[in-house]
Amino acid sequence: MTVSALATGSIKHHNKYNSRDGTTITRVIPHHWAGTSGGDVTLADPNREASANYLIFTDGTIKSQVPEEYRAWTTGSWEVDASSITVEIQNSTNGPEWKVSDKAIAALVNLIADIARRYKWGSVPAWRVRGHREFAATACPGPYLFPKLGSIAASADAKLKAPAKPSKPSGQEEDEDMIFIRKDNQNKVYAWSPSKGSKRPIGTTEWNAIKRAYGAAGLKLPIINTTAAETKHFGI
Ligand SMILES: [Zn+2]
Repeated sequence: MTVSALATGSIKHHNKYNSRDGTTITRVIPHHWAGTSGGDVTLADPNREASANYLIFTDGTIKSQVPEEYRAWTTGSWEVDASSITVEIQNSTNGPEWKVSDKAIAALVNLIADIARRYKWGSVPAWRVRGHREFAATACPGPYLFPKLGSIAASADAKLKAPAKPSKPSGQEEDEDMIFIRKDNQNKVYAWSPSKGSKRPIGTTEWNAIKRAYGAAGLKLPIINTTAAETKHFGI
């Protein structure tokens, strides 16, 4: 059973799916619920012939329904669903706008990047993220989400290609905004976290490990070289 690790739960599928019959998965099709509530209930209803591979909620939660190796019943076309991973997204407002929350869009970007990575797409060009209305007479995924699909694909592409964060050497704080400060007249480096306001000296062994980790990840070391006079600005 293939389910993204980003899914934090599932809803019942009641066997509402088919084999993909060997069809290669080439794209993601985001749909909208056309409603701020009830979409998950409809999909989970054993008497409603509708299902999706994933659901995304307004709070950014991702849930799975039909495992990826199976074709969900989402688009109304065997061929289209067979080659797609389908995602049903909760609206944050009703029509005519049918908005979708920023958190839901961020979750969709993450899910697409995860799918692209696992299916070795290499990149996420616009044709890999398509709207239901391109395949059937429907307004889905709505006037708010549909024009955003291109930028959603571009964001997923950027996420796919971003270098992995360096694995933190043991003892290093998990600070997203860590900046290193080096005094030029002393062979001393301080780790500075502007958001936490914390500073601490780094020993030679840890400093060499940090430089290796950033280098291995292809990341520029965030470092400020200071003169002795400047260091007082940083309180070191
Ligand atoms: Zn749809």
